[in-house]
Amino acid sequence: MTETTNLARKRVVLLNPPGSRKYFRDYFCTLVSKARYYYHPVDLIYLSGILDRAGWYVECVDAIAEGLTPEQTAARVERCAPDLVVYLIASPSYDEDVPFLTMLKGRVPQATFVGSGDIYRELRERALELHSFCDAVLTDFSTSDLTDWLSRTEDTLVRNVIYRAADGRILAGEETHGRGAYHLPVPRWDLWPLDRYIFAFARHRRWATVLTDFGCPFSCLFCPMSTTGYKLRDIDTVIDEIRLLRSLGIREIFFRDQTFGVDRVRTQELLRRIREEFPGLSWTCWSRVDLVTADFLKSIVEAGCHTIMFGIESSNEDVLKQYKKNTRRQQMEQALRMCEDVGLRTVGTFVIGLPGESKKSILRTIEYARDIPLDFASFNIATPRFGSTFRRLMKEQGAVDLDRMTYDSSKSSPTWTGDAGTDTLSNKEIFRLQQRAIRRFYLRPSYLLRRLRRIRSAYELYAQVREGWDLLIS
Ligand code: SF4
Repeated sequence: MTETTNLARKRVVLLNPPGSRKYFRDYFCTLVSKARYYYHPVDLIYLSGILDRAGWYVECVDAIAEGLTPEQTAARVERCAPDLVVYLIASPSYDEDVPFLTMLKGRVPQATFVGSGDIYRELRERALELHSFCDAVLTDFSTSDLTDWLSRTEDTLVRNVIYRAADGRILAGEETHGRGAYHLPVPRWDLWPLDRYIFAFARHRRWATVLTDFGCPFSCLFCPMSTTGYKLRDIDTVIDEIRLLRSLGIREIFFRDQTFGVDRVRTQELLRRIREEFPGLSWTCWSRVDLVTADFLKSIVEAGCHTIMFGIESSNEDVLKQYKKNTRRQQMEQALRMCEDVGLRTVGTFVIGLPGESKKSILRTIEYARDIPLDFASFNIATPRFGSTFRRLMKEQGAVDLDRMTYDSSKSSPTWTGDAGTDTLSNKEIFRLQQRAIRRFYLRPSYLLRRLRRIRSAYELYAQVREGWDLLIS
């Protein structure tokens, strides 16, 4: 594409706004980094491919990954002279996002601002009233709905887009994510600051996040992904994307599917193609303890997987049932043993302080985390996450402040109104239990020795020491 052609194209800035902390605003699942790790904003990454395909000149600004101040970010966006800004906004960073985006809109008033983020799935039409900078809301980044809306010739309802029509009416397209198979073009990975992202489990410094599906077919009440539907990306574009990443020197991938391997037949086909076309690829994925079998684990290891992450959540089976996780301790223990057998590293995530838990049951979960053969553990605090059924139920009970937007499941912040949160635990106590869990899990001589024995590369050693240090002093 020549410079003259580029000048004639409409310009879009894909923007992850700046922040005083490392906010994750993408894929409806928002939180704050507990250490140094920072992932690619997948919504914007995939929109870079969709908009490029539609003929837009794309600029990518990830102010958090690049460590830009609000002023530096605004100056970068101004220099791009965009016709369109697609920004992320999220619950943990809400108090910083709103003033920044208000200021930015004043600096580039010619640009149409389209926002995506967890809070917009709930705010919907209200977003246009609350946020003067917001011209439209996008509720699914994995479709061509945004480009359909941008190329409309008249104001009509567009799926997954909420906007103000020329006559002042707000038109709210239904949030609908589709089912079955879907197509997602290869992103413009070359436009992103690839050296600025950090993944604690990576064996190579440069890495990328890839989606082979969208959403999750399971129904865990506390999880926003349980309300996004589930669809499978066509394997050919997944392979094309890995091919592009390899050409950019990337050998490490985080398959950020919420549950890798749900569709067994398709997964085996994907794994076969990875094995045949990308020997030496190194990767990590999420799955569920009740889904994995010895054969499945063996096949992912053969295709290059070295680390698998499971949502363990709690050792209390009544709580797991209550929140529709529906996994059992026996399944957790068996899955972790099978992972050990095939040499996979395991990560378990836990959620502390769900209503129904007592201090005693949380302490039991902390000890359980130490007893099972986990390589890493992440302890998060229960929050009424936007988009989750749990939040809707808590709202119906009057247990959350409806005007409050800012929540952070990685650290304690007051969450529940009144005593509605748990029977006996204050927010402060939940935070203390989280800190205790981190120390009890990581500060064990036997654990540290085991970790050291399993390090495979100098980069891995460096990344783990650094992340461990950050986690313990946070
Ligand atoms: S399986 Fe995981 S991603 Fe899916 S709904 Fe449950 S917690 Fe969420």
